[in-house]
Amino acid sequence: MKIPSLPEIERQSLQKWNEKRTAVVFTTKQVWNLVKDQLDIFPKQKFYVTEATKPAMDYFVNQTKAEVVYGIGGGLAIDTAKYVAANLNKPLFAIPTVLSTDAFLTDATGVRINGCVSYLASQSPDLVLVDIDLLCHAPTEMRTNGAADVLSIATGMWDWQYAQNKGKNLPNQMIEPHVVEIGNAILGTLIKNAKEIGNGTANGMKVLFDLLCLEVQLCYLCGHSRLEEGSEHHFVYSLENSLTEHILHGDLVGLGILLMSVLQGQEWKPYRQTLKQLGINYQPAGVTEEMIIDTLIGLSTYVKKHQLPHTIATDCDINTDLAIKTLEKVLS
Ligand SMILES: [Zn+2]
Repeated sequence: MKIPSLPEIERQSLQKWNEKRTAVVFTTKQVWNLVKDQLDIFPKQKFYVTEATKPAMDYFVNQTKAEVVYGIGGGLAIDTAKYVAANLNKPLFAIPTVLSTDAFLTDATGVRINGCVSYLASQSPDLVLVDIDLLCHAPTEMRTNGAADVLSIATGMWDWQYAQNKGKNLPNQMIEPHVVEIGNAILGTLIKNAKEIGNGTANGMKVLFDLLCLEVQLCYLCGHSRLEEGSEHHFVYSLENSLTEHILHGDLVGLGILLMSVLQGQEWKPYRQTLKQLGINYQPAGVTEEMIIDTLIGLSTYVKKHQLPHTIATDCDINTDLAIKTLEKVLS
């Protein structure tokens, strides 16, 4: 069994980086305007990425005519760069300008196919360039959004234990007590440091960065993501089908964590406090109460249809009354 590892990571100011080879850059307009004068690279091609679909990524594979690939920005830009580099066998550099996801650390590219998430094989970056100062000055609504994928250990691990008790974990996904202990340590460190992370201090951003690294490495050791991906993510994948605009993944996951922790019967209020301290907006405009209630009611059917791992969402038959009460609690 081969256990993947984190990519090579270099902490330095962007201004110290230079690259002579021709580059294709995947980014967004806003991010590019921020970094273009700091980076000494030769961007022969530049694409602004707006959607996480396989056709969009295959288009970029066909268009690319450069020696090296850069993903600069958040998860979408970096995930696209990973897919293109893997398909063309080119060197890949990732520059996260926000800690909105853990995409810059992982070796797969998440896309949405037939109303659910699928992971396409891609590759880890050959090098991740991390400029902590740049991260501190990123837009506040985005810079810590990836912390939701650490806080989701709270509900993901609960679901994993629940499935174990029900005898529903796959043979290669059984609970391991030491993994639970380490997962709890990662979660506890996030909660303890949430205020500092939310304030965007250099120390706070470094803590969040390290927690994302630890969580990804722990999932690699397990060989699956049950540790941090449970009913809260399943709720998000289902809810996405009702959305009419792009909403940050962490905002949706934050909402999912609160709703699911209520349904799990957990002490959920500390998680709401943590989300507030982190600056994660779990009530994003663009998600109506009606969308949330409809998603909750249909969740059990959705997870069975897509054969998602066993969680509270598989068994909990949520009627309209329970959906409304759960939402009212979270928003109270
Ligand atoms: Zn996630």
